[in-house]
Amino acid sequence: MRILITGGAGFLGSHLCDRLIAQGHDVIVLDNLFTGRKENISHLFSNPRFEFVRHDVIDPFKFEVDQIYNLACPASPPHYQYNPIKTTKTSVMGAINCLGLAKRLKARVFQASTSEVYGDPEVHPQREDYWGHVNPIGKRSCYDEGKRCAETLFFDYHRENKVDIRVIRIFNTYGPRMLPNDGRVVSNFIVQAIKGEDITVYGDGQQTRSFCYVDDLVEGFIRFMNQNEFVGPLNCGNPGEFTMLELAETVLKLVGGRSKIVHKELPSDDPKQRQPDITLAKKYLDGWTPQVPLEVGLERTIAYFRTQVG
Ligand code: NAD
Ligand code: UDP
Repeated sequence: MRILITGGAGFLGSHLCDRLIAQGHDVIVLDNLFTGRKENISHLFSNPRFEFVRHDVIDPFKFEVDQIYNLACPASPPHYQYNPIKTTKTSVMGAINCLGLAKRLKARVFQASTSEVYGDPEVHPQREDYWGHVNPIGKRSCYDEGKRCAETLFFDYHRENKVDIRVIRIFNTYGPRMLPNDGRVVSNFIVQAIKGEDITVYGDGQQTRSFCYVDDLVEGFIRFMNQNEFVGPLNCGNPGEFTMLELAETVLKLVGGRSKIVHKELPSDDPKQRQPDITLAKKYLDGWTPQVPLEVGLERTIAYFRTQVG
């Protein structure tokens, strides 16, 4: 197949490129390089089945492809809050542009949605039928509401125009190729520990997240995209749940060094708990379940960050 990946120069998108190229597909990456890097995909530049196009998903685009993965959107809170209006436009107009193209081509189109659609959840663990608890006017809203609106667009194009959609809700994922200055918790803690700086735990550190290693997630993406039973929304992530203090202690243990844990102010609307219910993923993705335990994934991620920071 010929496959378009928006946001393909980013963390998740570049791993998806590798997997699809390895499977023998042609891949076109569309990315404006806001948080993505050419280095993430430069090893593919000499491959005749790979193309990179520097372009913004907000502006219309045309390609002849069989499948579209829409991943374009900054994912880390500091990056998506840097220009919040642009973040909402990226999610909403990016979705419209991908859906319009998919409609014309009759191509299957995948939306990288997020556990943020559940906001600060009052139901735990989160199932796909939970509608969420989202502040529409806070600092995280540009991302959360942008992604919620994108889901709305996907399901309306599906109902109204029979567009062949797949909507996945991604829970916190980590691994090699995250930016050292990404700002998300795993990369922050590892980079701080390697540099011997203080580990910055926001608030009391009792808030929880569930961390999935990138290879497990990308396997889920491809299985979901290529099954015909369920259009989503589908939770994808690792149900192993940890407090941020536990994460900080684990990273310190694995990296070694003399960093100490310090507490900083908790950002507004920071969700208190998050854990995916992956019953549907197991059912529809042929028994898919995450394979990489947190410490194993962290070791691989630490090895990568050691090559990035001194
Ligand atoms: P990332 O920031 O590394 O990648 C996003 C990519 O999109 C980057 O390459 C960036 O340059 C590109 N991009 C941003 N705005 C664009 C625009 N207007 N036009 C074209 N390209 C644009 O983040 P990631 O972790 O790889 O996330 C990929 C997708 O998965 C995002 O849509 C994100 O919301 C979603 N997601 C990720 C996670 C996670 O834990 N990694 C969790 C939930 C959802
Ligand atoms: N966090 C932290 N220290 C950091 C960065 C993040 O304690 O240096 C916390 C943050 O407050 C949140 C959790 O880690 O409770 C996950 O944050 P991240 O930005 O990775 O993702 P999200 O909040 O979007 O799940």
